[in-house]
Amino acid sequence: MNKSTHTPDKVFIYDTTLRDGAQGEGISFSDAGKVRFAKMLDEFGVDYIEGGFAGSNPRDRRFFDDIRKERLSHARITAFGSTRRVDLDAKDDPQLAGLLAAETEWVTIYGKSWQLHARDVLRTTAENNLQMIADTVGFLKASGRRVIFDAEHFFDGYKDDPDYALKAVGAAVREGAASVVLCDTNGGCLPHEVYALTRTVCEAFPGLEIGIHTHNDSGLAVATSLEAVRAGARQVQGVVNGYGERAGNANWITVLPALELKMGFRCTGAEKLRKLSEVSLVTDDLTNQRADPRQPYVGRAAFSHKAGAHVNAVQKNPRSFEHVEPEQVGNQRHVLVSELSGASNVLLKAAELGVDLSSLDKEATRAILEEVKRRENCGYSYESADGSFKILLQKVLKKHTRFFELEGFRVIVEKRGRDEPCISEATIKVKVAGETELTAGEGRGPVDALNAALRQALTRFYPEIDNIALTDFRVRILDPREATRAVTRVLIESGDGKRQWGTVGVSENIIEAAWQALLDSVEYKLYEDLCR
Ligand SMILES: [Zn+2]
Repeated sequence: MNKSTHTPDKVFIYDTTLRDGAQGEGISFSDAGKVRFAKMLDEFGVDYIEGGFAGSNPRDRRFFDDIRKERLSHARITAFGSTRRVDLDAKDDPQLAGLLAAETEWVTIYGKSWQLHARDVLRTTAENNLQMIADTVGFLKASGRRVIFDAEHFFDGYKDDPDYALKAVGAAVREGAASVVLCDTNGGCLPHEVYALTRTVCEAFPGLEIGIHTHNDSGLAVATSLEAVRAGARQVQGVVNGYGERAGNANWITVLPALELKMGFRCTGAEKLRKLSEVSLVTDDLTNQRADPRQPYVGRAAFSHKAGAHVNAVQKNPRSFEHVEPEQVGNQRHVLVSELSGASNVLLKAAELGVDLSSLDKEATRAILEEVKRRENCGYSYESADGSFKILLQKVLKKHTRFFELEGFRVIVEKRGRDEPCISEATIKVKVAGETELTAGEGRGPVDALNAALRQALTRFYPEIDNIALTDFRVRILDPREATRAVTRVLIESGDGKRQWGTVGVSENIIEAAWQALLDSVEYKLYEDLCR
């Protein structure tokens, strides 16, 4: 790290998504995904990217081989491992040899700072544990590495035996660790405790760069990270979108804007911060997670306004209901369209989607409002279906582009025996550019099969649709009191790595409802790619 970046207000962001985050339930990266992720974080201005357990996990080792071939502009890749084994010299410990084999300039090791752990988990003496920390840091330093020491269970260890916890930190510092990171490993600490103990360590080791690593078991990982910075920590270890074991790690996507926009610290700078939402979304894509609409700052609902009076106030002055400007974190203001909303909501929503209705006469505006209301009465809901709303506007304004014409489809669902899987097959006939295409597709369910058949029919004409991923599919039965005539609403969420959009379909038949939503999704994508 360049010396000039060490100004008093600089806070280093240390990402551990690939290691601590990947331990979370359902989180997994492909090998190529890891490299793409690391390059994105580098471009975004993250200071350290922890690549994984270099010494013990072959898959993590592959990442270090892959990333070495890439040119990074800013970030330091760190290899993660632990202090030497209880019974081995550092130089003979295969885990440390693996750490060196990652060939990174920076390594991060974790060690015990809680007596109880040294005794009961490592089954060694408190004294030997301190020696293990010192030996390991010393060995890595002598091997030309820069060392970050993660003091595991620091806060619990300090509460149990303050003197011992500080000795553990001291052992790493004496051997030349570049920074020491205080870990709230089980996520049980409260913000005021983290503040007080971080302050204590800062005072005990003046000049030492101190980091913070917290978990979200108490729902406070972001708060404790910020308190640590306020107390003097200058490195925050966190995970994109708060993935991680149990309740997850500190979500640096939330930590970062608080530091930059509200506390006067500098991390990536304001310009890069405008990519924050994209970083969050792409990471969800790479790990096949559903984006959380309510995630602070970057969630799709983070700047959504529904009630008429709110919308009106936001229109007059956004600060009336928004804590930061959505653009500062790369998000957008959303106006939710619902039957409660008046004309101003619909106009604002249209503007947000890039459809300017301000020049329309009263008659045309009323036509749009009436059509929205009519459809909402039938069961449509546009609150999370921006894509369908935009297509609806275009239809009412007679500006709708038909990219293809459906001539018909057929869906078969078959089960050939009690223990056989259910097979779905769809055939579809569409007319594109004067040609009729007839294709068949198979899928895990009827909608999946229909989607496969439609793509097969269209890809030759519109290769753009190849990268649409259906990320969510929600079905709701409306008015269950009239079960026989109940209407089904299907909401589909789609993404193409750059953006996400929702579409909706309503029918008494679930396949028909899904088809409408599917059709809107494809038309929306084609319109955005080809007509804007
Ligand atoms: Zn952790």
